[in-house]
Amino acid sequence: MSAELLNGTRLAKHIRSQIRRKLKKLTFTPGLAVVQVGDDPASSLYIKHKQRDCEKVHFYSEVHRLSADVSQSALIKHIEDLNTRSDIHGMLVQMPLPEDIDKETVIDNISPDKDADGLNPVNLGNLLINREGVTPCTPTGIIRLIELSGEEIEGKHAVCVGRSPLVGKPVGLMLLNRNATVTYCHSRTPDLAEQTQKADLLIVAIGRPGFITADMVKPGATVIDVGINHINGRAVGDVKFEDVKEVAGFITPVPGGVGPMTRAMLLENTLKLAIGG
Ligand code: NAP
Repeated sequence: MSAELLNGTRLAKHIRSQIRRKLKKLTFTPGLAVVQVGDDPASSLYIKHKQRDCEKVHFYSEVHRLSADVSQSALIKHIEDLNTRSDIHGMLVQMPLPEDIDKETVIDNISPDKDADGLNPVNLGNLLINREGVTPCTPTGIIRLIELSGEEIEGKHAVCVGRSPLVGKPVGLMLLNRNATVTYCHSRTPDLAEQTQKADLLIVAIGRPGFITADMVKPGATVIDVGINHINGRAVGDVKFEDVKEVAGFITPVPGGVGPMTRAMLLENTLKLAIGG
């Protein structure tokens, strides 16, 4: 048996065309601001992609490049100014930040109404109490990919490997909100395979290339590989794709699975914030 591929590139393209259609009904242009501190090349590339995505759906976008030695208070002042701009509906601060800047404090200062990444504690708190508004991009993209499979989430056993606030923890909450039974695994979980083998939905976000092997996967499971690991200039996931695809029912490729969906969900969040819904 070979698993069916969940094609994030194609789904993201479809979502962008839906956004363009919705935009035709608006009398204004949604605007996204991205704040970059320093000039980390990987961050610059991610930002370029985000700008290109904005162009594709005819959003307005701005990049604010601040020097690597900017103080935390000056960065926060910059964010506060963006919070008051009526032409900017969503913003995000590109991570990572320099070590002397506290990431959480910075995110605290993004207005929840402009939080395009869905990582402000108010938006995460709403997720916790099943009042989903703007939700983090990668977890939201994962839910869309599972929905694409046509598999019901309700009643399924979901296992999240990884518990980061960016991916693992919020995706587990989103699955719980949809009535899955959720198990979280992390680096201190003894006998990880015993847990993953029980998963109908296996979400892997750890950052270890090829860590999940075929013997760790329940036959027919839906496997979502979030990992992006660069090996010899090539992106590989946390799942041993070639082997696991022979066991799984559905599987996401890397690249072309969760990555493009994360970017599409940033556009959706920006639109949501722009129309106040
Ligand atoms: P992170 O903050 O480093 O968290 C990694 C998580 O994996 C932690 O919870 C850690 O456990 C757990 N873990 C590490 N080694 C493990 C092991 N051997 N067994 C079980 N659990 C283990 O990473 P992240 O931000 O969630 O990202 C994870 C991966 O997804 C990375 O490759 C990243 O590049 C990728 N990513 C992709 C996208 C996308 O759009 N496709 C978006 C975000 C991230 P502890 O908590 O115990 O340390």
